[in-house]
Amino acid sequence: DREVDHATVEGLLQMAASGDIGVKVPEYAGLAAYRAEGGYRLLEKVRSGEVTAETLMATMQDAGLRGLGGAGFPAGKKWEFVRSYAGPRLMSINGDEGEPGTFKDRVYLERDPHRTLEGALIAAHAVEAQRIYFYMRDEYPAVLSILRAEIAALEAAGLAAPGFIELRRGAGAYICGEESAMLESIEGKRGLPRNRPPYIAEVGLFGRPTLNHNVETLWWIRDIVEKGAKWFAGLGKPGHPGIRSWSVSGRVKNPGVKMAPAGITVRELIEEHCGGMAPGHTFKAYLPGGASGGILPASMGDIPLDFGGELAKQGAFVGSHAIVVFSDKDSAKAATVNLLKFFKHESCGQCTPCREGTGKMVSLLQKGAIDEQALRDLETVMRDASICGLGQAAPNPVNHLLTHFREEL
Ligand code: SF4
Repeated sequence: DREVDHATVEGLLQMAASGDIGVKVPEYAGLAAYRAEGGYRLLEKVRSGEVTAETLMATMQDAGLRGLGGAGFPAGKKWEFVRSYAGPRLMSINGDEGEPGTFKDRVYLERDPHRTLEGALIAAHAVEAQRIYFYMRDEYPAVLSILRAEIAALEAAGLAAPGFIELRRGAGAYICGEESAMLESIEGKRGLPRNRPPYIAEVGLFGRPTLNHNVETLWWIRDIVEKGAKWFAGLGKPGHPGIRSWSVSGRVKNPGVKMAPAGITVRELIEEHCGGMAPGHTFKAYLPGGASGGILPASMGDIPLDFGGELAKQGAFVGSHAIVVFSDKDSAKAATVNLLKFFKHESCGQCTPCREGTGKMVSLLQKGAIDEQALRDLETVMRDASICGLGQAAPNPVNHLLTHFREEL
């Protein structure tokens, strides 16, 4: 109802373009503080050849470091694949962090950005990448502001060549967190996932072999090399090497980012890391992996949370380690409808099973009597025929609703 003050809008746009949008930047370890505690010494050793790419790859393999953006692909193997294709090669960093319930990468970048940047420069050196594209979620203005300042500081200190790390802003599309859609977006196109093969390790950004990593995966590299693969692997539960960052939200007393072993159960996370359930709430269900990983009942609260394993047998996955806890005050059906509405909204629309299937699932779930056969048929066709993970994973909560929460149907 208000007349828009164009002068002000212009001014705001200018401020946004210059990065000065009045964002409150939290206290964090800048370049000087990071270097004072030994930061970038490992990068120098890697660049001087004292630590070789082969040693780095073997260390990542022994440590069991997996891609922590959601896919869980072994980091060392990824480096090997990218190096096996002829250069020039490129690197991208996925800082889109769009999976609902995930907020760990933000915490790392707002507190300790150089650990990720050093990890990125080490990985880029290992695969001989000619440039790093850092794709950052625009909804994190403080992070963008920090990265702008710290990348400039790295250049001034001679630790990164000018323009070697190029910061790119996302524009709020969930699908641009899917690695091939992200590459399309970086190339200046609409963020549509690509068909695979070829995989991006072979044909990635601008047609070049591309190493893509999540923020947290890179964040661990320095510590793993300095403290040893055994140290990192030993921090996990037996049979689940490594430690992870869990974004825990929902009906718990103390939500937040929790550093805890791979293979931990949701019950342990709630009791040992979150101070128990919120007062007056009884644990009923949980999302083990954000919106995509499905919804499981409390009776499955003792499943070790990790890539594959028992979780996969239940048609669920841990993805980016976003745990959302529901209580007796919540409805699994309402949560499922909400998740499917999200997928419908965020579907890029390029393939029919996902574009039509997500919306159809919402309307079938909202009908008075549930047509179970139609939902099961849709589930099959979406899993089998969608191009990317969004359409393939969208039916997960529906499968679980029909299997584990029948009393709500
Ligand atoms: Fe797009 Fe969905 Fe197809 Fe993925 S599955 S390519 S999001 S329409």
